[in-house]
Amino acid sequence: MNTQPRVPASLSCSCCQRELPDHQPLWSCPSCEGLLEVRLDLSPLAALPHDERLMVVRGDPGERGLWRFRAVLPVDSDDPVSMGEGDTPVVHLRVLGERLGLPHLYAKLEFFSPTASFKDRGTTAMVTKAREVGVRRLVEDSSGNAGASIAAYCARAGIEASIYVPQSAPAAKKAQIAFYGAEVVPIGGTRDDVTEAAMGRCRLDGAYYGSHNWNPFFLEGTKTFAYEVAEQFDYNPPEHIVVPVGNGSLFLGSWRGFGELKELGLLERLPKMHVAQATGCMPIVDALERELERTEVIPTFPTVAGGISIGRPSRGQMIVSAARSSGGSGAAAPDQDILRFQRDLATLEGIFCEPTSATAFAVLPRLLQQGAIRSEDRVLVAVTGMGLKDTSVLEVTPAT
Ligand SMILES: [Zn+2]
Repeated sequence: MNTQPRVPASLSCSCCQRELPDHQPLWSCPSCEGLLEVRLDLSPLAALPHDERLMVVRGDPGERGLWRFRAVLPVDSDDPVSMGEGDTPVVHLRVLGERLGLPHLYAKLEFFSPTASFKDRGTTAMVTKAREVGVRRLVEDSSGNAGASIAAYCARAGIEASIYVPQSAPAAKKAQIAFYGAEVVPIGGTRDDVTEAAMGRCRLDGAYYGSHNWNPFFLEGTKTFAYEVAEQFDYNPPEHIVVPVGNGSLFLGSWRGFGELKELGLLERLPKMHVAQATGCMPIVDALERELERTEVIPTFPTVAGGISIGRPSRGQMIVSAARSSGGSGAAAPDQDILRFQRDLATLEGIFCEPTSATAFAVLPRLLQQGAIRSEDRVLVAVTGMGLKDTSVLEVTPAT
């Protein structure tokens, strides 16, 4: 186990800039209710000679999972709430890539996780921190994957969990949450109504709001995606990363991770980060296309990509700004394309992902057409969730 000291960390409000210690059970700014961000002081680590720095960042080569990167994770515990999450494989998609005119197309299979979605990266960090600051009861709202992940890790940490879910969430996801022993609270109305109900409960009875969208430690966990990609591509990451984006926890975490690696002098160049959304719900792509600073409320429609159906993303402005700073762009795909790519991935590459994840492949022809990616570039797509999580859209007839 890596016993290197962790980098110094504090919390800061993204709205009023107030600085706060990171050892209290806070999920928003006590002054203005703004979103909190973790501030890491990487300078002690950056001051080390290159090889030593790299060794500290990579952690113990004999250890599996994202806690290898504990030197850059703002958690004191040497005994994290973990099930070995992270270290997900990268595979080359030769057949699908050739069909698209992208011979260097790769997928990082994030469903290789204890609860079968990338959310476990963020949850392991957030729940470990919650336990560290004495949280006993936690409330979260989720369309399914984050809820299942948080229910699982809370069960392991001995924290009581209540998960607010949209009434329309896939049955398999709701069943998975309940199976871990969490309280499942179905809420009618929009996804935003579910968030409001969960926050209302926290304000009322003082429970900790362990939201994957609000909690700053969640992004600390998802940033390990970037640390792994850097390693898997020998510190010369693909030119493009494409991520399905709802509230953007993987997108923002990855951007943060790549930024840290550059600050640490371990990367010379950052990848371009592209946002994939469904045309039924595309506030971020809309803001990028119209060159807005922040997302606007635009009409949304039901989509098969339920995991990213977020009309008012809490960190919308940050996502827009990250995509733009990276030189990336955004594209949206209609449901029929998403479902076609979900099927193609299965029949051509043996990868069974949920529709939300297939969205990131369905936008590739558009990104190529826009000139945002070029045929000779290396493109990595995050496959965020397992297909069995959402079988509501599967046809019963075999593929032709
Ligand atoms: Zn504030």
